[in-house]
Amino acid sequence: MKSMYLPELQQEFAALGQPKFRAGQVFDWLHAKQVTEFTMMTNLPKALREELAASYAIPSVTVEDRLISQIDGTEKYLLALPDGNAVEAVLMTYDYGKSLCVSSQVGCRMGCAFCASTLHGLVRNLSAAEMLDEVYRVQSLTDGRIDHVVIMGCGEPLDNYDNVVRFIRLLSDPHGHNMSVRHITVSTCGLAPRILDLAGEDLPVTLALSLHAPNDEIRRTLMPVAKRYALPEVLSACDAYFAATGRRVSYEYCLIDGVNDTDGHAEELARLLAGKNCHVNLIPMNPVEERAHLRETRGREQAFKNKLEKLGINATIRKKMGRDIAGACGQLRNSRLEREG
Ligand code: SAH
Repeated sequence: MKSMYLPELQQEFAALGQPKFRAGQVFDWLHAKQVTEFTMMTNLPKALREELAASYAIPSVTVEDRLISQIDGTEKYLLALPDGNAVEAVLMTYDYGKSLCVSSQVGCRMGCAFCASTLHGLVRNLSAAEMLDEVYRVQSLTDGRIDHVVIMGCGEPLDNYDNVVRFIRLLSDPHGHNMSVRHITVSTCGLAPRILDLAGEDLPVTLALSLHAPNDEIRRTLMPVAKRYALPEVLSACDAYFAATGRRVSYEYCLIDGVNDTDGHAEELARLLAGKNCHVNLIPMNPVEERAHLRETRGREQAFKNKLEKLGINATIRKKMGRDIAGACGQLRNSRLEREG
């Protein structure tokens, strides 16, 4: 029920012999007031509340662990799903507001060499309701509104395309949490056909492409997906995304010692992106214990950024948030899996 659009909910209530406005009331409780039980929906007749509770579950995630950084207030959440699986979400406070990084899958099947989320493979997709609940549950513990979401937690959002699109539409519904679509970022490892699909959704979210290499040869050693979709195809899908939405694409580039962080790589990257209205986000690598051969760049961030800018490419170095609590994406869940044996 929580994954349904309002018109779908109206149909559901019509089938139950209920008036249309009841669907609107339930939608308001689920997505604006963000309650977790039918019993809390106090403007519904008691009999209806009981009938709904008997026939429908409201899937809800529960906060299993919450770590708060002493350095910058970043909050990292381990969230348990109804079936016992767990995902992570991270709440960051910026001068423009609060931003939540949400997970789209339990695990991931993309196999990127530097990423902790993929170490145990893909378990399953999250439903739209579960992704919404990542936002709603964290919101319930937070002063101030969560008004940005980045889908950059565990999982590959475009590998769970339909649920992610549904999540974005519901999260931005004016009768629900009402988040601006422009405040939502989808980060992808580069599933080119799905990028083109997203361009056709009339949903102007920010697209972030995890690039991480200035050419296909290096990219294929880091990201298996690069063997399926080569850079010309991925970059032309990003160009099509920009053309359709007017949204500047952001290219994520994680600097890895000796692999992709030399001046020569910066020059090659600048040539690759020349003429695009884009932005490069340089990400300091989070060391992953199981991937010890891939190390953080040794102080090359600033030089790499300067080189790109001299060649006309906008770049920023992403600030490391929650250094004392975070670890790389997926590590909190992995340590829980280890504890459970
Ligand atoms: N699957 C999506 C979104 C999840 S990962 C994607 O690939 O974009 C979010 C971002 O974190 C991606 O850019 C990813 O490449 C990056 N990332 C993964 N592991 C990392 C690590 N150990 N250090 C720094 N960035 C990492």
